[in-house]
Amino acid sequence: MTQNPETQPPSGLPASVDVVVVGAGIVGLAHAALAADRGLSVLVIDRDHRAVGASIRNFGHCCITAQTGDLYELATAGRKHWLDFSARAGYWSTESGAVVVARTATELRVLQELGERREPGQIVLLSAAQTLARLGRTGTNPAPIEDAPTAGISTEGAPAEDTAPDQSAGVVGGAWLRDDLRVDPRTTVAQLAAWLDQQQDAAVRWNTSALGFAAGTTRTARVQTSRGDVEADHVFVCVGHDVDLLFPEVAAEHRIDRCSLQMAAAEAPGGLELAPAVLTATSMLRYGAFVELPSAPALQAQVQAEDPELLDIGANVMFTQRPDGTLLLGDSHAYQKTADPFLAESTTDLLLDRIQGVLGVENLTVTERWQGIYASSDVGPLLVADIRQGVTAVSVTAGIGMTVSFGLAERNINALP
Ligand SMILES: Cc1cc2nc3c(=O)[nH]c(=O)nc-3n(C[C@H](O)[C@H](O)[C@H](O)COP(=O)(O)OP(=O)(O)OC[C@H]3O[C@@H](n4cnc5c(N)ncnc54)[C@H](O)[C@@H]3O)c2cc1C
Repeated sequence: MTQNPETQPPSGLPASVDVVVVGAGIVGLAHAALAADRGLSVLVIDRDHRAVGASIRNFGHCCITAQTGDLYELATAGRKHWLDFSARAGYWSTESGAVVVARTATELRVLQELGERREPGQIVLLSAAQTLARLGRTGTNPAPIEDAPTAGISTEGAPAEDTAPDQSAGVVGGAWLRDDLRVDPRTTVAQLAAWLDQQQDAAVRWNTSALGFAAGTTRTARVQTSRGDVEADHVFVCVGHDVDLLFPEVAAEHRIDRCSLQMAAAEAPGGLELAPAVLTATSMLRYGAFVELPSAPALQAQVQAEDPELLDIGANVMFTQRPDGTLLLGDSHAYQKTADPFLAESTTDLLLDRIQGVLGVENLTVTERWQGIYASSDVGPLLVADIRQGVTAVSVTAGIGMTVSFGLAERNINALP
């Protein structure tokens, strides 16, 4: 951003811009990028020296297909922006889709039911062999996508009767979710922020905390920061799970908790190359589009009966592969106002065991473990709250902020006068 020194307070922040965004995670950056595209001058501030929040700790999976209702609209609307800014800002992205692995007939039924609700080709049912091939588990080539069954369950590989999950093999089929995207969570927000900072009318300032919000004198609102005040016509406060630290009453009204998740990274076994994100039965228990299907209660009962430990840790057994080959493995869910920082080794071990079962390998080499935290609410998956004139708090209060960030930002920026 080219700054006029005449209008700069000593802090180096501009005295006034059209839009201030607080928080340089994906939700804040999506708002900033789309505001800049609209020709508005934008300042992003983040309290940290670089983004280390939820947006770098996740799977980098834009889980578009498994959303429903308004979230599906937002996820679908955001897809083009993910790809557009990937081309412009240079972050890695892939239209890999996702594979959902089924190990029982009930799981297959859930996948089939979702396929029947969607346009042809969006959800492609896979035979067992096709699913294994997409997991890199056989020497066989996957059948071309066009040849995979798109309606009904393939008789090839489908079990005659329901079977218990088999941790060593037992894959009976699956589905490919065509529209899902992947980005690299470790690099995406840093690249997007750096690119934004190079744009003519945008700036990103780190190590700058928002401390308070007031009425402006030259613009609608004033942001009090640790480096001085900035005025703006509109302020989006996108601080993720820390929304309760700035706006405790709003967070209490929306019943916001912190959801903490255990994650691990592992070396790819045997040069494994995995294009899609990989989801499993517990994923189908969490994402809205699956949860509302007729067979969802049967699946819930089945997992409860056959693998209750996974439900005890709130597991969503899933994994993705970064461009450098590293596998990102997860995850568990625990809900508290203040997240307990201690990671239970038994939780990581359980997740690792089930993922090894899906991959058909033993002894994955874990290279990193970490805790991720996102905002969670039983009131609804999105918090968009007017704090005062010209100041809006925006927080995705479910574990889908990568998926819906750009769609939500498009909606909010379009609503500006
Ligand atoms: C382990 C894990 C896995 C996940 N997997 C997925 C997935 O596969 N797909 C998906 O769609 N979603 C996923 N999510 C959810 C997703 O990561 C989050 O919803 C999303 O990243 C939230 O983005 P955010 O910008 O709101 O928050 P954050 O990325 O946490 O960013 C908030 C920023 O605000 C800054 N900040 C806070 N307070 C202030 C202040 N007062 N002043 C200035 N700056 C401040 C912080 O420093 C931080 O950089 C996952 C989350 C986790 C933790």
